[in-house]
Amino acid sequence: MKRRNFIKNASLSGVGIAVGSALVSCKEDAVQKQETSAPVVIGSIPLVIATWDVKNATAKAMEVLNAGGNALDAVEQGCRVEEANAEGQSVGKGGLPDREGHVTLDACIMDKHGNCGSVVYLKDITHAVSVARKVMEDTPHVMLAGEGAKQFAVSQGFTPEDLLTEASKEAWEKWKIEAEYKPIINIENHDTIGMLAIDKNGDISGACTTSGLAYKMAGRVGDSPIIGSGLFVDNEIGACVATGLGEEVVKTVGSFLVVELMRQGKSPQEACEEAIGRIVNKPNSDFKNFQVGYIAVNKKGETGDYAIHQHFSMTKYQDGKNVNIQSDFFNKNG
Ligand code: ASP
Repeated sequence: MKRRNFIKNASLSGVGIAVGSALVSCKEDAVQKQETSAPVVIGSIPLVIATWDVKNATAKAMEVLNAGGNALDAVEQGCRVEEANAEGQSVGKGGLPDREGHVTLDACIMDKHGNCGSVVYLKDITHAVSVARKVMEDTPHVMLAGEGAKQFAVSQGFTPEDLLTEASKEAWEKWKIEAEYKPIINIENHDTIGMLAIDKNGDISGACTTSGLAYKMAGRVGDSPIIGSGLFVDNEIGACVATGLGEEVVKTVGSFLVVELMRQGKSPQEACEEAIGRIVNKPNSDFKNFQVGYIAVNKKGETGDYAIHQHFSMTKYQDGKNVNIQSDFFNKNG
């Protein structure tokens, strides 16, 4: 086990039991384990984790949870913070466009009952995650795309606006002149924001929102709005959300895989590592040239995060601390 993981797990075991609310979801489990005198490893709840360094977003989500709000409200409100941030060039307003200069958004959300909603190729609406929630709650469908998704959003009171900011337009115009004509995955900064939360009742929800790969082909959709790939929540077991090259996540149904591995007994960390292994160990995997990262949480409030590329990080708000943690990563030269 790598040193950081060791510290992380050790500190979790130290804090877990002391926090009363942590016992809500795990009480029976904890009692059983105490009988065998093994140390009980549980993380405290409520908690929020998110891909990349998005402390304002996790702070917002925790504010919702601390006020007694549920995990679904928390992840929606948290993701909205990044969507509204026009300086972030990968989510919502200000997102980098496709190669035709159009900003198109993908998002999804999933609740404790396994309900889900998603939007793909959504134009002109900043808060894609909230439209996804409306799809989940106010339509008989799971996914709406393109013009239909936009019409639905407008019918629900969302106001259309131009999402292409001057900065993103300039970046796109520079890319057109200089570019090798291929999509770019941003490995230095945050891309998709994916967020998972456990509320005071021990219930889990998750959400994911993105403008996708910068300068993608028009019409391209990644993993982020696809339930099971970009996000999966199973309130009995845990949840996972992905970022990085969506095509690779879709090919391995990554988030569902991580949750199923946890169902089979793996910790969130082990499950994320195995899911990354499924990508890098494929024959002819081109993993040296792309990035994928997973974050996961289980019902006990333990978390995991792992990536192919070293720049990946997770923001975690737990026990009153809102911190960004560099993730362990698969050594791409290894
Ligand atoms: N996963 C997103 C996509 O493929 C992009 C990202 O996370 O950067 O659309």
